[in-house]
Order: sequence, then C-alpha cells, then structure tokens
Amino acid sequence: MARSGPEIKSREQLQTMRASGLILASALDAMRRAVTPGMTTAELDQIGSDVITGAGAISNFKGYHGFTGTICASVNEEIVHGIPGERVLKAGDLISIDCGCILDGWHADSAISVHVGEPTDQAEVDLIAATENSMWAGIAAIRSGGKLGEVTSAIEGSVKKSGRADGRRYGEVDGYGGHGIGSAMHMDPFVPNHGRQHKGLRLVSGMALAIEPMLTLGTGLSDELDDGWTVVTRDGSRAAHTEHSVAILDEGICVLTAVDGGAAALAPYGVVPVSLD
Ligand code: MG
Ligand code: MG
Repeated sequence: MARSGPEIKSREQLQTMRASGLILASALDAMRRAVTPGMTTAELDQIGSDVITGAGAISNFKGYHGFTGTICASVNEEIVHGIPGERVLKAGDLISIDCGCILDGWHADSAISVHVGEPTDQAEVDLIAATENSMWAGIAAIRSGGKLGEVTSAIEGSVKKSGRADGRRYGEVDGYGGHGIGSAMHMDPFVPNHGRQHKGLRLVSGMALAIEPMLTLGTGLSDELDDGWTVVTRDGSRAAHTEHSVAILDEGICVLTAVDGGAAALAPYGVVPVSLD
C-alpha cells in the first residue's frame, strides 16, 4: 500500500523509540569517552556495536545499502558517511560519529562531533559549538501545530548568529539534512538546515524528526569520494555534524536520543521536554 506523508506514531510507539534512543545515547557516550589518539575508527565502531547489541538492539547502519559499519566515522574534512576501518586517529583530529539502532522495529539516529585529544585550534572548538547550538535552536522550535519552516529557519538563524559572534562565516553543507524517523531510519519529511519561517509541513503530535546540521570552516560545497560513501568538503576545510532524534507530542517534545530528553540544552529556550520514560 502506498504511504504518503509523515508517519504518525502512537504514544506507546514513541515510548519504544525513546527506549531505542536511550540505547543509542549510551553507545555514543561510550564512544565519546573512548576517542583517543592511536585508536582506529574500526575500534570505535566495535565499542558502539557492543553497546547496541548488548542492550538487545540492532544496528540500522550496518547493511544499509551495503554500508559495512555500525557508525559513520567522518574525520577532519570528511563531513558525513565516512566508513570505519583501519584509519588511526591522531591528536588534533576532529571526528564526527554518526550512529543508529533499532529496538523492536523502532529506529534512533544521532551524531556527535568530538576532538581527538586536546583541540589545537579555537576555530574547531567554535565549529562544534556552532553546530550543536544550531541543532538545539532547531529542536527548540519544534512544536505540534507549528510549521517545519520554524525549525529550519531557526537552524539557519543560529548558524548566522554564531558566525557573527565568532567573527567567521560557517559553511552550511548543501544538499544534506535531517528527516522523519520511526519504523524506518529515513522517512518523510526531508528537513533542510535552512528555510523560511512560515513555510513547509505542519507538525503534529506523533511525528518524529531527526535534526542534523553540518557545518564547515570553509564553504558548503562537498564531494562524494570514490568509495561511494564518504562526503568531504570540496575546499578541504574541516566539518562538524551533530544530530538528535526528536518526538513531537501535543504537550511538547522529547529529545529521544538525549539522556535527559534535552532538558539541559533546551532550558535556555524555555522549553521543558515531555518525559516518555
Ligand atoms: Mg545520523
Ligand atoms: Mg539522520
């Protein structure tokens, strides 16, 4: 049967997505703490895989159109979709770790950007902060009854605000963005990282969205490598990518892949997340 429009989940289904999201949060936390100079991205992948399978969930990345990893490990000028392998992480590298899992048929998707060892460049510290801030600005704008454009324009506005504060212009990666999520990882709607406030889909209770800005220290132009996966900045500048999956309910939102449901990061916006635990 053809399906049109975003998938609407029951509260019970969103609760299972929350359980899936918490498993993914613990996998990403384990990987964040494990990132060390000298380790390979395959070793990092194994840590994420162990947490996911140990919790009774399965990877949604592994086997996705033939992808071989449980994580995407994107280092330095790699933006997204880097394949984990024998690459050795060095002090001063910047790695974006994107990961996902499925629990009882319900998907979670989340990403972090992390410095390998101590950061050597303030611009890269600012880059990760600007990416995270734009993600949270977008998440804070999600509400039942609102328009998708409120979310996408909030992401875009936050990037520009960070650029002004930091005295640089961040590149916003063209052609990639967030998505609906639920019984599959990638579902309608596409969620661009820029937009017009009053435009786009009306958001309603039962939807879930993955919000995932990608910023660079150069331009927003990118290329895919010959491996058919890895997306790199065309100008070789470094990139960051962060992501959370978010549930929409009539009474508010829950950041499914944040341990606290998003409470701490949403507090400055006056948003108190709904508990689905
Ligand atoms: Mg992801
Ligand atoms: Mg995603």
